[in-house]
Amino acid sequence: MILPIIGLGHPTLRKTAQPIDADYPDLQQLIDNMFETMYAADGVGLAAPQVDLPIRLVVMGYREYDEKKKEYVGDPIERTMINPEIVEAKGEMQYYNEGCLSVPNIHEDVLRPETVVVKYFDRNFQPQTEEMTALLARIAQHEIDHLDGKVFVDRLSPLKRTLLKRKLNDIVTGKTRTHYRMKFATKK
Ligand code: ZN
Repeated sequence: MILPIIGLGHPTLRKTAQPIDADYPDLQQLIDNMFETMYAADGVGLAAPQVDLPIRLVVMGYREYDEKKKEYVGDPIERTMINPEIVEAKGEMQYYNEGCLSVPNIHEDVLRPETVVVKYFDRNFQPQTEEMTALLARIAQHEIDHLDGKVFVDRLSPLKRTLLKRKLNDIVTGKTRTHYRMKFATKK
């Protein structure tokens, strides 16, 4: 089932999400719904607060793109992370152009470390410690920010945010159009 994605300005995006345990009701169904919602919106990551659930749950998924063949290759790289925690950041700080399903039609370069070590529980509640790098690390950091009530535009310079003010306001007031279903703070 595809779930509506909430937009910037919705209070749930600003909450600190709470950890969950294996007894969380209908968890497997929720995870499946989050993957379906993410792929339908052409996203590569989705955090539970974005579907109006203030819990520490993230899904990520994408396929490698072969620049020469001009096509996606291999199996999708997918992760479900429950109660994730970044325990170490390493490598260089890098800029990467980020977007967010809750902040549609805005893409900006954000500075983050290239590699992170993340501790989390997978969808079977098995503890994992994984070193993630490049795109996977980028998505993980963006999504874990959501669990702490942060959105990528918070990481832009004040000048950049000022320049984006009108576009951001269009999202908050529900004027921005998307090809996927959204729920805005000020509009049904
Ligand atoms: Zn996001």
